[in-house]
Amino acid sequence: MPSLIPGVISPSSSPRPSLFFAFHNDRLLVEADRSTARIPCIRELAEVGLEPVSQHYLGRLGQRHCFAADVARKAKAPDGMIFQGLRRLFGSLEEELFQVAGRAFQIVDWERTHQFCGRCGKPTRHHDTDRARECAACGLLSFPRVSPAVICLVERGREFLLARNARFPKSRYSILAGFVEPGETLEEAVAREIREEVGIEVGNIRYFGSQPWPFPHSLMVGFTARHESGEIRVDGEEIVDAGWYSPENLPELPDSISISRQIIDSFLGRHR
Ligand SMILES: [Zn+2]
Repeated sequence: MPSLIPGVISPSSSPRPSLFFAFHNDRLLVEADRSTARIPCIRELAEVGLEPVSQHYLGRLGQRHCFAADVARKAKAPDGMIFQGLRRLFGSLEEELFQVAGRAFQIVDWERTHQFCGRCGKPTRHHDTDRARECAACGLLSFPRVSPAVICLVERGREFLLARNARFPKSRYSILAGFVEPGETLEEAVAREIREEVGIEVGNIRYFGSQPWPFPHSLMVGFTARHESGEIRVDGEEIVDAGWYSPENLPELPDSISISRQIIDSFLGRHR
């Protein structure tokens, strides 16, 4: 399936049914059986008895237009469908659909939390042509928020650094990550996070790739770096354990859909 061609202004008429990414709180409406989930393909949500509180045009995926919608709190899933958490849909929803679902969730969640102006407190309204909310009183525009976070694999010869975050399941290890602070370059954020969390200095910071992460509005920017100096000293708060691992000696790693795992797999591919 091709990826989404984004759009903001809804087409005036659509001859074919569209894909509706409808959220009830943070759960997505899907037609699901045991192993696969599908997005409802309908002309409007009223067709399945749902009344959206808000609806946003997202763009076109192949021949289908896509919409994000927020359904009322009391809404019940139509027969044959369920509302399911996004994380649980990893793997059971096609990758392109999952990406659009993440985008849909971020837009719905942004609209819910930007009903009032952050400057003067008056109600906001839809902007006609941009993905924005506009304050009717003072004109302040609010756009969907994206929070960049860096994630980095640190190499030392045939070994690389893995750490256990205090929030991870007991045996899970991953590479280091953290949010970018105002005024920082991505490379500065990488060096600072690694210094703060495990006390080492890195160099040769190289871009790997990126992944939108809709929990709730991150963009993970992946890097690799080389160990330059220092011994591992975990901060003991965010990171509770860390060490150098070789391809022959690995703990439990993150899910394969995450960029952290893709960076790890790329390293392992080069050193096996
Ligand atoms: Zn205002």
